Amino acid sequence: MIKSVYIDNNATTAVAPEVTECMLPFFHDHWGNPSSMHAFGGNVKKHIDKARDQVAALIGADHPSEIIFTSCGSESNNMAIRGTVDAMGGHPHIITTRVEHAAVLGPCHHLEDRSYRLTTLEVDAKGHLDLDQVREAAKSGNKTVASIMWANNETGVIFPVPEIGALIKEAGGLFHTDAVQIVGKLPISVNELPVDLMSISGHKLHAPKGIGVLYVRRGTKITPQIMGGHQERGRRAGTENVPYIVGFGKACELAMERMEQDAANERKLRDRLESGIMETCKGARINGDVAHRLPNTTNISFEYVEGEAILLMLDDVGICASTGSACASGSLEPSHVLRAMDVPRSMLHGSIRFSLSRYNTEEDVDYVLQQLPVIINRLRELSPFVQD
Ligand code: PLP
Repeated sequence: MIKSVYIDNNATTAVAPEVTECMLPFFHDHWGNPSSMHAFGGNVKKHIDKARDQVAALIGADHPSEIIFTSCGSESNNMAIRGTVDAMGGHPHIITTRVEHAAVLGPCHHLEDRSYRLTTLEVDAKGHLDLDQVREAAKSGNKTVASIMWANNETGVIFPVPEIGALIKEAGGLFHTDAVQIVGKLPISVNELPVDLMSISGHKLHAPKGIGVLYVRRGTKITPQIMGGHQERGRRAGTENVPYIVGFGKACELAMERMEQDAANERKLRDRLESGIMETCKGARINGDVAHRLPNTTNISFEYVEGEAILLMLDDVGICASTGSACASGSLEPSHVLRAMDVPRSMLHGSIRFSLSRYNTEEDVDYVLQQLPVIINRLRELSPFVQD
């Protein structure tokens, strides 16, 4: 039987067994509508409240009412950008970066097509922003909405959100950050930071797919994007997805309890994997700033080979990895993140993202280190461009 190793946790994570267990009663026993007048439904509401507290505790939000449950990280990003732009009125200036997830770039370009001014900030070769450029862009002041991610899904590079948020806020703008990849992996205390809105997604931290959160700081004006119901204090209509909300709450509680241990373990395994690859694979290079990145992520390019070919051969031996954003897979276009970082052409098509979770082991890493160099050698032998 082929061994199976899943190291694609920035795409999605396994639902923690503790999470599944606490969700089940909300399918079979407590399936009432939390908005009902009767106790059977009404009693469910307190479980939503508990989950709201659990999410607020994980991200250090002062008020649970600042947590809005959504259907996913993409919805949270859309709601943050379109909802604040709508509420601001006029035609606010929108600021973002070239390396955002499609769920931020999509709504930004949609608004640009409708004559909003959009500034898309560049990054350097390590994947970092120039803070002077942020300051310059923020000058348009109180008619600005900036959406800048916290940690990059492809490279794991962490932006200095406290500094970026301060620049936007000092100029009078609103600041949203897509924190989908960092929440649950590293400690966050959003209340102490110059952040007005923040997106989270359940399936990146061992809750199921199809549940997300938008943190909205008290006093921030936002127009609902899903209308027609009083749920989530009128900010997002629709009968609540109770089992998933409960599961998300539990996943946040687990993340809080285990974060330090999980991060240390993932970092150790990631570093072992990375140094093993660098020692054994010809023409390999790490993409992104290794000093400022998520503990679970490494993005490595292999010169003159196709990332898709590597992935298929890894898949044949039971290893699941990724060429970058899950949403971009299926296209042979090189990653927009690596292009923004000016990764050399010979490296651009051969990048693989390995992302670990609390469930990975040394055995997993050793299996990848046994299989990958053979695959890379074979593909390099077939490449018409290899000189060595
Ligand atoms: N933002 C980032 C940085 C992501 O990595 C992802 C998912 O890959 C999303 C947003 C979208 O989240 P969801 O899959 O919950 O819509």
